[in-house]
Amino acid sequence: MSSKNNVDILITNASELLTCKPFDPKKPKTGEDLKDLVIIKDGALGIKDGRIAFIGTSTDAKNITAKTTINAARKVVMPGFVDCHTHAVFAGSREDEFLKKQQGIPYLEILKQGGGILNTVEKTRRASKEELLQKSEKIFWKMLEYGTTTVEVKSGYGLSFEDEKKILEVAQDVTKKVPIDIIRTYLGAHTVPKNTSKENYVKEVISSLEKIKKYAEYCDVFCEKGVFSVGETETILTAAKKHGFKLKLHAEQNNQLHSAELAAKLGVVSADHLEYISPDGIKSMVDKGVIGVLLPGVPFYLMEEKYAPVRELINNGMAIAIASDFNPGSCPSYNMQLMISLACLKMKLLPSEAINATTINAAFAIDRGNEIGSLEEGKKADVIVLEVDNHNKLPYYFGINLVEKVIKNGKVVIDRGKSSIVDKH
Ligand SMILES: [Zn+2]
Repeated sequence: MSSKNNVDILITNASELLTCKPFDPKKPKTGEDLKDLVIIKDGALGIKDGRIAFIGTSTDAKNITAKTTINAARKVVMPGFVDCHTHAVFAGSREDEFLKKQQGIPYLEILKQGGGILNTVEKTRRASKEELLQKSEKIFWKMLEYGTTTVEVKSGYGLSFEDEKKILEVAQDVTKKVPIDIIRTYLGAHTVPKNTSKENYVKEVISSLEKIKKYAEYCDVFCEKGVFSVGETETILTAAKKHGFKLKLHAEQNNQLHSAELAAKLGVVSADHLEYISPDGIKSMVDKGVIGVLLPGVPFYLMEEKYAPVRELINNGMAIAIASDFNPGSCPSYNMQLMISLACLKMKLLPSEAINATTINAAFAIDRGNEIGSLEEGKKADVIVLEVDNHNKLPYYFGINLVEKVIKNGKVVIDRGKSSIVDKH
């Protein structure tokens, strides 16, 4: 019997096994390919040593023996969600701003009043590393419960070397307590801290790059009117590139600044938000293969009408991903199922497009497309089982957690419906 016929976990009878396999293994999905989830009906999936060892139909799997069998009859089995844009490590909460937003005070105005990001900066600076770690532990377990198995986390609530380092260290240490993978991004240029000029702070961010490099894979800048200009963003990201960072960029969120063109010029991995992107911006991103990360939870939560022009992006050949942008101000939710519903309702994505955008394309947006984001032999066994029988029910039931089981690195880490596991031990 070959090792393939003897696995640790075997999932069988899945009504739909969404492989999300890309057409080209090196590239995220675009155009028509984005609609294709590459579904196996009556699917089966074998896991061995943390990796996917077998994928096929239940009939193909009938000779496979397993230590644990999961009967996924009338259930969808798919890759774990990859949340490729969050600000998940912070202290406190900002429900007071919720009331301001209801009264129609705009986000940038709240920022000017010393609220917004600076409010969280103050609380995060005051919090000890241990306090931040305890809060983060709860958040990342919850994320797992909602089916997220890999998450990108940005710093940006410290705004000094020591406090930014504290956040990035927490994002590392929490993975010793919670079985989730975290990709770390240095966002020192999130806003300008109090009691310093922007000019001085840009210099400070640049001079901290060398020291902060070992704590983060990516460098990101909040390029926005009243925050960092296109010129300042270019200066910071050019320096970051020299220090070996991969790049990301908060681009065209509230104003058309042509930061998408800058994103293309710098060769960033992804440019995120894009509500106000121009046709030239779209073209330059597509030419350079920059992924557009869209964050529908933000305009939804800020009660804004303008969403990223997703159909235009897709029709022009851009690869798009969807993320939560989980943060305490403009999107206090990390529910990726809700983000899929919002992408369908507010941006008119098809359910299949939104699912590919939160799995395989999101994996490419953090440069992990070869490792996660789709169910293929050899890839990491990050798998979720949903308590619905077809993928259109994922956006249809909105705000409800449909995740029944989460398998991370080949181990069942969340089980909200134990009855269907048959364990041979
Ligand atoms: Zn963000």
